[in-house]
Amino acid sequence: MPNDSNLNEMNNIIELKNVSKLYNQPHQLALENINLSIREGEFICLIGPSGGGKTTLLKIIAGLEKETAGEVVKPENVSMAFQGGALFPWLTVYENVALGLQEQDLSDSKIKTEVLKYLEMMKMTDFALKYPAELSGGQRQRVGIARALAVEPSVLLMDEPFSALDAKTTAELHDDLIKIWRDTKRTIIMVSHLIEEAVSLAERVVLIKNSTIAEIFNIELPYPRREQGLAFHHDVMKIRREFFK
Ligand code: ADP
Ligand code: MG
Repeated sequence: MPNDSNLNEMNNIIELKNVSKLYNQPHQLALENINLSIREGEFICLIGPSGGGKTTLLKIIAGLEKETAGEVVKPENVSMAFQGGALFPWLTVYENVALGLQEQDLSDSKIKTEVLKYLEMMKMTDFALKYPAELSGGQRQRVGIARALAVEPSVLLMDEPFSALDAKTTAELHDDLIKIWRDTKRTIIMVSHLIEEAVSLAERVVLIKNSTIAEIFNIELPYPRREQGLAFHHDVMKIRREFFK
């Protein structure tokens, strides 16, 4: 029989145990003794001042950087959506989304079905044959998220995906992201430097300061969060106090 802690761990899709990261060139401690368990299907936001270690933590989960100490348990199929979409300008929207799928052993018709499914999910079906230069910033980000989702990852990672977008575009993307998260039950870990954004989206907000986890906030407001008025504001203020402390 597994004991209690084993039972808990069985529901965790990611486990970080005493994880540290020391960059060599230049010599820089980026993470120190991080302990964090993430449940399957959870929506987590990492926030904190610039230079605190958020991107490093995301890269370690993505497998793009290797921890220098500690243990990382994570699934194989982790997918990253980059800021601005990071699309290939010489490929159409359709081809950009198909890219990750072409590395898998799928038939052309299966690839087509999958690409169209995720373009539809991100409301980009009508733009399938356009090139990135013909899209707005918000549309490019939509394609980037469609591409990351199309490989059906267990975990979707995003590093400040909406930081270059205007408020209205961001609010629309937030609503769609929450809908997709609920429909697909993906685990999502997103870096944000905006407290309001984190409180709008995440079930848990992890505050990272000076290479360590300063505090973890549970956000229990119902969605859509922006309509929660005073309760929303209360959670934002609670995090803000710790953010600037
Ligand atoms: P954040 O995303 O919170 O702004 P980062 O994870 O990017 O923080 O950076 C954490 C610390 O590690 C910073 O001091 C940064 O300068 C340093 N750092 C980030 N990437 C590298 C790198 N490739 N080489 C050396 N130092 C780095
Ligand atoms: Mg960063």
